[in-house]
Amino acid sequence: MTKTDKYFGKATSKGAEEILLTQIKQEFTTPADAISDYIELIEKNINESNLKADEELEQIKSGCKKLIDQYEEAFIEHTGPKASTEDKTPEEYSELRHNLRTPLNAIIGYSEILIEDLEEDLSQQSISDLEAIINLSREIEKAIEKFVDYIRGALIDKSEGEVSDQLESAEALFKSLGNIDYTFELNEHVQNADVLIVDDNKTNCEVLERRLNAQGLNCRTAYDGESAISEVKKKIPDLILLDVILPDINGLELLKIFREDHQSDSLPVIMVSAFNDVDSIAKCIQLGAQDYLPKPLNGTILLAKVVSCLERKFFREREQELVNELHIRATTDQLTGIYNRRVVFEALEKSFKEVQAGERENFSVLMLDIDHFKKVNDTYGHAGGDEVLKIMATTLNDLITEPNILGRIGGEEFLGVILDKDIKDMAAFCDKLRTAIKDNVVDFEGKAIKITSSGGVANTEESENASDLVNKADERLYEAKKKGRDQFIFSQVF
Ligand code: GH3
Ligand code: MG
Ligand code: MG
Repeated sequence: MTKTDKYFGKATSKGAEEILLTQIKQEFTTPADAISDYIELIEKNINESNLKADEELEQIKSGCKKLIDQYEEAFIEHTGPKASTEDKTPEEYSELRHNLRTPLNAIIGYSEILIEDLEEDLSQQSISDLEAIINLSREIEKAIEKFVDYIRGALIDKSEGEVSDQLESAEALFKSLGNIDYTFELNEHVQNADVLIVDDNKTNCEVLERRLNAQGLNCRTAYDGESAISEVKKKIPDLILLDVILPDINGLELLKIFREDHQSDSLPVIMVSAFNDVDSIAKCIQLGAQDYLPKPLNGTILLAKVVSCLERKFFREREQELVNELHIRATTDQLTGIYNRRVVFEALEKSFKEVQAGERENFSVLMLDIDHFKKVNDTYGHAGGDEVLKIMATTLNDLITEPNILGRIGGEEFLGVILDKDIKDMAAFCDKLRTAIKDNVVDFEGKAIKITSSGGVANTEESENASDLVNKADERLYEAKKKGRDQFIFSQVF
């Protein structure tokens, strides 16, 4: 079966095939020629108005030339007398469509940029001409689609009437909407974002970069997979815009590589590609892309998606920071920065249960209190007392290290849960603490404050439950006070 047989579903005459081919070609050449005409008009107007847009016009012109040359070449190759009759793979057709459409990226991108940059200075006529170029580019996109469908024999003979009715009502809707006033405000946190653009086509990169720069976003570019990998290694960007077709490595492969080291939460990726079939998009999402942008890019959709991705990342990070901050607040004693009462009692409760379950060896708790602390406050003021508490906490924290847990459980009372199996001699350990506190002279506003401490120690061996254990330690602390302070007591002496 020949290609045209597939199209018409039955054998057709040579004449009909030629008419169809001419139609298909005209659908491309008519808008392409019109674009060339519009460029000339716009160039003239820009020169007359003494505006500077050489670079952009050059990009549009060379895009237009490339577009026509490539189509011409493809047309001859696929429909001429020497056209291959061998079927290509779906990927080859996609690649052909992608290549033919690529110059449209520059034409549409730079036309949109000119409209945005010169909106104030350019005549209304030239703005409409630029808009016409964009609309014609969309027509060309469809014509390319149709051409590729034709050579792969996939054109379906749709009911013409139905399609044109649909088109008409869509047109009417667009007209009734008129010109929509659309402005865009970037969240200040998103504005300093670092975006990595990965695309082998320099023009695509430039168009993207200019659009994002215009919003204040910082961009880096990589023209192949290897450079993209090294850019990410250098610094993890806030977002990657990743082209699907790259010279050295497939964009999807590259996405897989990024996902080995970075979750999509910390490194969002938006895939950018001319393959807008649903299966490819689904694959990108399955591989961990957050979103997808079809080429040729539309400036509004590009920004909406980029910003939404960046905002999501920003708010997620902010949320994590707040959760961390709340956790710190909920577990820390404000004055001294060591654990608070809740943490140390929870740890004690949990460790006691582990002992009962046979998962942990017996351990000791140590209740510690500053001697005559009221006098410190009376002599040096509350601020002096606070300074003593801070230094006391630091001294204890340096000695009661992990896996042991230390917390401030009241005014000048501290509780240590001594879980370290290497601390066999509790009496020696406590003596070290007592001496360190006693020797530590607190400097407060040039005055030297000296303190002593008392403590009570109890072991899980002698207790039924955690609160019994704490009570025993507390009773011994009281005992130490009674016996003259500056000492630690290990068993009741009644
Ligand atoms: P003892 O040797 O019997 O423990 O006597 P003490 O004076 O240390 O004990 P007491 O419990 O009578 O007094 C503790 C004082 O600690 C009373 C209170 O005003 C003070 N205090 C409690 N919390 C703080 C605090 O956060 N900062 C300061 N500066 N003082 C505090
Ligand atoms: Mg005290
Ligand atoms: Mg006290």
